[in-house]
Amino acid sequence: MRNIGSINRVFWVLIGCSFALALATSAAAVWITSKPFLLETQRQAIVSQAQREAARVDAILDPSESLTGFLTSEPALLSYVLGYVMTDDGFVDRIENTVLPADISEFLIFDFSGDPMSFHIVGTQSQSLDMMQVARSLSLEVLTTNQMTTKVVQSHVGRIPDRQTILIAAPIFHQGFAEGVLVTVVDVPLYNAAKPDDVIALNKRIVQSPDVAHLKASDDNAILVPIGTTGLSLLFTSESNLFKTIGQELVSKAILAVSAALLLPFGVFGWLGKQTILRPHAEVERSRNKLREQQKELSELAAIARKAEEAILITDLDTRIIWHNPAFERISGYSASQIKGQLPSELLQGKNTDPKARAKIRAALISHTPVTVEVLNYRNVTEEYWVRLSISTLFDDLGKPYGYMAISSDISDRKRDEANLLATTSAMEWQALHDELTGLPNRRCFNATFEEHCRGPEQKPALAIIRIDLDHFKNVNDTMGHEAGDLVLCKVARILRDVTSGQNISVRIGGDEFIILLVDDGSLQAACDLAHSILQKVAQPIDYEGKIIRVGASFGIASSECQLVERRELVRAADAALYLAKERGRNQVIAYGAEEHRKVIGVRDTAEQIRRGIERGEFEPFYQPQVDAQSREVIGVEVLARWVHPDRGVLLPGSFLRVAEQLSMLSTLDKMIMEKALKDVSTLEEKGVCLPKISFNVTANRLSDPDLLLAIDQRDFGETAVSFEILESVFLDDQPEFLDFTLDLLREKGLSIEIDDFGSGHASMISLMRVRPDVLKIDQRLVMGAPNSRVCQNMVRSIIGIAESLEIDVTAEGVETRQHADMMQRMGCTTLQGFHFSEALPFGELHAFLKTHEGGLRNTG
Ligand code: C2E
Ligand code: CA
Ligand code: CA
Repeated sequence: MRNIGSINRVFWVLIGCSFALALATSAAAVWITSKPFLLETQRQAIVSQAQREAARVDAILDPSESLTGFLTSEPALLSYVLGYVMTDDGFVDRIENTVLPADISEFLIFDFSGDPMSFHIVGTQSQSLDMMQVARSLSLEVLTTNQMTTKVVQSHVGRIPDRQTILIAAPIFHQGFAEGVLVTVVDVPLYNAAKPDDVIALNKRIVQSPDVAHLKASDDNAILVPIGTTGLSLLFTSESNLFKTIGQELVSKAILAVSAALLLPFGVFGWLGKQTILRPHAEVERSRNKLREQQKELSELAAIARKAEEAILITDLDTRIIWHNPAFERISGYSASQIKGQLPSELLQGKNTDPKARAKIRAALISHTPVTVEVLNYRNVTEEYWVRLSISTLFDDLGKPYGYMAISSDISDRKRDEANLLATTSAMEWQALHDELTGLPNRRCFNATFEEHCRGPEQKPALAIIRIDLDHFKNVNDTMGHEAGDLVLCKVARILRDVTSGQNISVRIGGDEFIILLVDDGSLQAACDLAHSILQKVAQPIDYEGKIIRVGASFGIASSECQLVERRELVRAADAALYLAKERGRNQVIAYGAEEHRKVIGVRDTAEQIRRGIERGEFEPFYQPQVDAQSREVIGVEVLARWVHPDRGVLLPGSFLRVAEQLSMLSTLDKMIMEKALKDVSTLEEKGVCLPKISFNVTANRLSDPDLLLAIDQRDFGETAVSFEILESVFLDDQPEFLDFTLDLLREKGLSIEIDDFGSGHASMISLMRVRPDVLKIDQRLVMGAPNSRVCQNMVRSIIGIAESLEIDVTAEGVETRQHADMMQRMGCTTLQGFHFSEALPFGELHAFLKTHEGGLRNTG
């Protein structure tokens, strides 16, 4: 099949060819018909030009002939020819007195035997030898014929004819006899000097009449015109060039004219052809192609529909089935005869089909909008299966609906998988959100639920949090085993589950920690009541394998009702309250109230300030001297941290140590203090003062810090002994493993260990022996109480007894008065420390104190 492009091309090629053909035939016709006529015309033109020319030449020759004839009868010439006179002077005079035609160039005189006698030049042309010979033979001829005769002499420049000279020879008669000959030489100006290339002129010549026959024989087209009665003719030779040129000119002009004439009709013809043939043809071709594509598409679609996995239905506007594909039979389970003309809703849907899905389909059918739904269908009325169904309305070319098309695929497998997945995921979700042991929701679940209740406006109903920690639960695990521990946890969980209902939830957030989220009634009162009732229930003894287990619990409560903190902060507030409950002796309920809030805020502020204080190095070591109980010499100093606050002045450790410890910044702080103290020690040394000993307070945490040992390794305290003070309470609880190890290391490095505030706690003798301290520092409360309390005195005495049995020193702290000092000295303390001697001094004042102290400074040597 030709496409539109090639048809176009063929059309234009045809137009071009016929144009060329028309042009060629027209040109040929013009050429054939007009050529003879044109040639004849051309010939006539040349002939008439030749005749004009001949007449002109004749007009030149005629007077010359007459003159020649006349001059032969001149007596002077005759006398000269006959020899009567010896010169031709008379004849020359005669010529000179005669008006001669302009073309005569000379006169030649021959005697009766044809010999030249004299010549007389009139013009400027010189004689050529040629011409002289011709003139001589001519004169001989005339002497024989006695007739006047003319002859042409042709002269050339190279091969080009230059000029023609005509000789007129007339006999000179005397008494009837020719006694001589007079030859007149006439120059004929045949050539037009202005047009040297004129083809016509070049082929023009004067010839002797006798040559005509000969010429005619060799050249058919030659043109000969006689020149008067001279016996000469003017000849135009038919040089082929002449005619060829005329022919070429004619052809090219004819073709040019014809093509110009043809161009317009052919242009019009082409344009009309394009409008009336090509364009409609292209239109037809286009629509034919489109139709072909549509047909192809339709047949492909039909094939696809027949092969499709999906069930396809076509219905009329009443939704009666008019066409269906094999897949529909397969999926629906009906045969073709059962399907035709049926309503799909009746054929396929049943009692469990979702009415909402049906309504959606109906609405879409009425509004002619496409719809996709998942519906439950019935195979042979009984067997349920799920399909994903898409329905769209079919519109004709005018946009009028004429039916519906429904495509559906069986998604029963997917539905089944989804149901299974749902079951599995919900089981997994449950696991992810619940505690395995107790079955209570876990921290993750709590976080999500709590977050949900925190969202939205603040003026929602009050929300309360109860934080519960079991008291000394570790003991149960350690003493009675994990099973007993689990039993306790499950029992508590049961209690909590029993007391929470509705939206309230009880959560185990880890170990022995629980939270209750109160949503239904989140007032502070309700939370407190609930906490107390739980406390009572938890306190009930549990029987485990015949043994009784008792546990207590501490409660921290926070409610949004109090409007102290934002909802999101409630858990932290409850934590703070719980901390207080534990601090105040456990087994009690503390609610987060205004006072607690103030404390928390205070702590928060302090924490921030401490952080900044550490950054700015505002913490300084102060030094409290320790003196020998006997000699009262200064034997060392205890380093006490001070916060030199830019606004609040010098602050004591009571106002920052605990917060720093809570923030885990105590190690940093201790390190800073130690570094500065070391610098002070070297400064003192430079001033010639050598401190015998320096003591640092360290916490148990600090002892476990690998940095501490490193710091000690890297520092040089010179002659000064270094001692660490560790609180007695450190040894109260289970003594951590690392402590023994660290203490051994410290001792190896030459450090001494002092037990601080000894007598305030209940460190066992066993642990004391394990630690092997170098000094016991008696708690200042015992020292200060001693003067007025026998108990204190006894305590002091027994501490001194222990020290003596361990063969170590005793330091009395809090020696505020001379009485204290004397008493402690008497009782056997080795070292005294207290305001009586000095309070803790800044480094600047320490130097002065050491210099002025009565007892002086113990020599380290
Ligand atoms: P501590 O180790 O028992 O220190 C003795 C405390 O008693 C000091 O209080 C001191 O100023 C005070 N004191 C000394 N003599 C007397 C006296 O005669 N009468 C009275 N009433 N008090 C006296 P401070 O400086 O407030 O320190 C309190 C506690 O802070 C220290 O008790 C110590 O446990 C801890 N501490 C101080 N500095 C540091 C430190 O740099 N690091 C660590 N980890 N703890 C430190
Ligand atoms: Ca101390
Ligand atoms: Ca102390």
